[in-house]
Amino acid sequence: CGVFGAVGVADAASFIALGLHALQHRGQEAGGIVTYDTEAGFQSARRFGYVRDNFTSQKVMETLPGPIGIGHVRYSTAGSKGNTAIRDVQPFFGEFAMGGAAIAHNGNITNAVALRRELIERGSIFQSSSDSECIIHLMARSLQRNIPERMKDALRRVEGAFSVVAMTRTKLIGVRDPRGVRPLVLGKVGDKGYVLSSETCALDIIGAEFVREIEPGEMVVISDGKVQSSKPFEPKPSRFCIFEHVYFSRPDSILEGRSVYETRRQIGVELAIEAPVEADLVCPVPDSGTPAAIGYAFQSGIPYGMGIIRNQYMGRTFIEPSEQIRNMGVRLKLNVNRALIRDKRIILVDDSVVRGTTSQKIKDMLLDAGAAEVHFRIASPPTMWPCFYGVDTPDRDKLLAAYMSVEQMRVHLGVDSLQFISLDGLYRAAGVAEGRDANAPRYCDACFSGEYPVVPSDMIDKGFKL
Ligand code: 5GP
Ligand code: SF4
Ligand code: MG
Repeated sequence: CGVFGAVGVADAASFIALGLHALQHRGQEAGGIVTYDTEAGFQSARRFGYVRDNFTSQKVMETLPGPIGIGHVRYSTAGSKGNTAIRDVQPFFGEFAMGGAAIAHNGNITNAVALRRELIERGSIFQSSSDSECIIHLMARSLQRNIPERMKDALRRVEGAFSVVAMTRTKLIGVRDPRGVRPLVLGKVGDKGYVLSSETCALDIIGAEFVREIEPGEMVVISDGKVQSSKPFEPKPSRFCIFEHVYFSRPDSILEGRSVYETRRQIGVELAIEAPVEADLVCPVPDSGTPAAIGYAFQSGIPYGMGIIRNQYMGRTFIEPSEQIRNMGVRLKLNVNRALIRDKRIILVDDSVVRGTTSQKIKDMLLDAGAAEVHFRIASPPTMWPCFYGVDTPDRDKLLAAYMSVEQMRVHLGVDSLQFISLDGLYRAAGVAEGRDANAPRYCDACFSGEYPVVPSDMIDKGFKL
């Protein structure tokens, strides 16, 4: 998901709509905005579909006045795929003794089932099926006298990954979980305006200046042009999601001071060193494989070409929650550039193999178009484990790499060769020169290593085995 908040600006909702539009790649299912204005009070609009289709009309934007607000773009994670109800669309709003608050959450709470059970037993009335709603109920039960303190109480009980943007009538609040699994950055607009955003690309669209990242375990409370920082949690080693660098974030964003594009290009360089092959053309699976393919071509000296053309008017296939649509999606979205492919030995570069459906179809399309050979190179290690921290990987039994060796996958996909970047190579590309330190990995890489930095306790209760 993507989160964005603004405070101290003339019309917060218009900034938020633009910010969410720049974060649309983080979630395309639905979006919502909440604002506060002294006359209108709290207002909210939550809709299915793209930001550009919902939050551009004057009719909707007029209903969201005020100098402060937050927004969310949703991509449903495990549990709620395909049947999101509008009541699951964030931000969530709650009215407490000291006024209302709204929250928008990116990540996934790994003890949400247990928390929900406990809260329901104690009388909480849940409105949605979302894990994030627990935060509101925990806040409502806190005995603290102001909302930021209530939020600290609530988030201390929450396990897992969270980058949260929240608001009261006057304060914009941003928090990252102690490991900082998901990103969150602070930007400045004008004299007194501040914004919080999942990624820096959303600062660029509104001309905001990048101030800094919110640190793992940090809470910022912003009002009257001032940013107050605190560290409410027990410190933990930071474990940022390495897959943000590989796939999830936009290539024009800066994460941890590093250009996402440059990291991806460098993954391609590492791949060409680790997994060379004789061929005529390096082609990305657009757009997710493009920077790595550029790096591979650069390092290998093999020409780069657009062997597959993407229809710009389709969304990301993977994020479509139903399997049927996802299966159709590949052809709707990608087509082979026949004239370029014919009789050539192709190195096909993509960011990841999950179920293997995309890769298989693309390979078929390349062979139909007369490719002589297809060598598949993947910019991440085999995805063997599900993510429980906010990226929608399917159950373990649907992950190709969970039940097949690389050679079995090669045969299954029907390609001439298949190689994945090593975890060490990925770490090097992400700027860790010495590779992955097995005793203290710098990143979360659980979907590749199976080493979960936060015990996924709800999933273990449901029978998941580490
Ligand atoms: P597959 O067809 O192997 O199941 O899907 C892999 C493709 O899905 C890759 O091209 C990747 O760009 C895309 N993708 C979209 N969202 C995700 C995600 O959340 N996780 C992973 N690993 N890949 C994703
Ligand atoms: Fe990121 Fe993978 Fe960790 Fe999920 S399991 S947070 S996708 S590195
Ligand atoms: Mg892709």
